[in-house]
Amino acid sequence: MTFDPDDFLNTTQPRRTCIANANGVTYPVTGAGTVELSSSLSLSNTLLVPSLSNKLLSVSQLTEQLNCCVLIYPSFCLLQDIHTKEILGRGTKRGELYYVDDFSLGVANNVTHPFNSKQQQIWLWHRQLGHPSFSYMKHLIPDLFSGFKDSDFTCDTCILAKSHRVPYSLSTNKCTTPFTLIHSDVWGPSPITAPSGVRWFVTFIDDCTRMTWLYLLKNKNEVFSRFQSFHK
Ligand SMILES: [Zn+2]
Repeated sequence: MTFDPDDFLNTTQPRRTCIANANGVTYPVTGAGTVELSSSLSLSNTLLVPSLSNKLLSVSQLTEQLNCCVLIYPSFCLLQDIHTKEILGRGTKRGELYYVDDFSLGVANNVTHPFNSKQQQIWLWHRQLGHPSFSYMKHLIPDLFSGFKDSDFTCDTCILAKSHRVPYSLSTNKCTTPFTLIHSDVWGPSPITAPSGVRWFVTFIDDCTRMTWLYLLKNKNEVFSRFQSFHK
């Protein structure tokens, strides 16, 4: 929706005569037409509403006509082509509104972050190398990380793409007496064998006191005998 009739490339018959805002107040629609967003993007059936103070983009109209998705982040938003993943537009949040002020084409990797150039370089390498862990990158290119810790960086794509199961839901259950409930976990084999020959461990954790027993194992089949001795 726009308030400026000069925005239209061509005019069409509006599909409605008025629009209503959230509290039910209606505003008259005096025209419609096609608006050019960029040299390659345009939106048809855009309404002319002279009483508007901002030009508003309808997300449903945008996603349907441009075959794109809209990614809303805390401080910016992106319009991304569903098939090619190309970024069609970018917006920044100012106040409570997202202002889409850039409709130039670009690939996802070219999205600029509001960081200094060193951080931008780290992000660029992270993407170009196919999202390795930041600790590995620090090992690989230590100079790049001078002044930064690898824990300073978290990548949403990595978290979503590399997680292979949903997180456990929070448990608020807690036993009031010791040895009512014991949690146990077996870990191994370690890629490195200890000088004593152990490659596994099993833990027993008392739910009430959080007291933890840890047994080192040479083989996984020792778990049951360790449990028996723990149980005694
Ligand atoms: Zn990543």
